[in-house]
Amino acid sequence: MIDLRSDTVTKPSDAMREAARDAAVGDDVYGEDPTVNELEARAAAVLGTDDALFVPSGTMGNQIAARVHTDRGQEVLLERESHVYKWELAGVAQHAECQPRTVDGGDRGVIDPADVRAGYVEEDDHRPGTGLLALENTHNSKGGIAIAPEKIDAAADAAHDHGVPVHLDGARLWNAAVAHDVPPSRFTREVDSVLCCLSKGLGAPVGSVLAGSDGFVERAHRVRKLMGGGMRQAGMIAAPALRALDRRDALAIDHERARRLAAGLDDLDGLTAREPETNIVLVETERPAETVLDEWAEAGVLAVPFDDHVLRCCTHWDVTDDDVDAAVERAAGT
Ligand SMILES: *Cc1c(COP(=O)(O)O)cnc(C)c1O
Repeated sequence: MIDLRSDTVTKPSDAMREAARDAAVGDDVYGEDPTVNELEARAAAVLGTDDALFVPSGTMGNQIAARVHTDRGQEVLLERESHVYKWELAGVAQHAECQPRTVDGGDRGVIDPADVRAGYVEEDDHRPGTGLLALENTHNSKGGIAIAPEKIDAAADAAHDHGVPVHLDGARLWNAAVAHDVPPSRFTREVDSVLCCLSKGLGAPVGSVLAGSDGFVERAHRVRKLMGGGMRQAGMIAAPALRALDRRDALAIDHERARRLAAGLDDLDGLTAREPETNIVLVETERPAETVLDEWAEAGVLAVPFDDHVLRCCTHWDVTDDDVDAAVERAAGT
């Protein structure tokens, strides 16, 4: 089976399994796990922030950020197809007790300064006020779009002009960095917090990092505890995550394979693949996506539906060049 459903399906390498076994551990709720501490320091260095916090999932990291940055009853400004808005069970309403306001970032899901100014709500006797702008890069629902760092800066500056803090959902920020050939820290210059997944293209079995200023991470630490995300001998999962952090450059291969996959699928009748910018390929299907996916699954290829006539394929380290060619061949036979 060639599994193109997500870059989260990767299995840890032997080196990661060994790292987990041999990890130095302690009780991380007491701050005594040396491997977690090392991961947090390394992640902060890579992201160019004061500090970072190891969290069990990207969703928890985003939710902690929303809670830390806002006051109850404010608005959170989001792109209408963003993960925080679409795929996190209305967590902004449940955990931060805020009202989401969405803006349309167009084909590429980019929020520009004009969108921020239009979406900003000034607090008065009737209106709640905007408490947070949340950005996303790469943009998942738009097909792994790698938004340029200057665009992130510009939206963040516009929010700051109104005194509004900015969170960057950079679940796949590593991919954006590779696509733009800049260090991940280039994207965090103007934002107040950033969430990055280690368990997607980088291949760690579990975990994400939430990074920002010392003051932000201190408050995030308390909210992580509140949400039940305080972990004990978490060095067992931080050790493979440290290995994952070193795999960033290898994402270029996933991007190359995504282009190869898109070109191959686009040549097939009834399919139109969008040119990928990172490791995600969106494919428009003439027939219902579910029908196409059922046939692919029969033929040994897995992907996920994204819309009635759109499906998503992801490349990742468990997908080789041969797998890409085989996936196209099998899809051609359906
Ligand atoms: C996957 C993803 C998340 C959530 O990460 P989990 O670890 O699955 O909770 C958040 N934002 C984006 C853009 C994602 O793609």
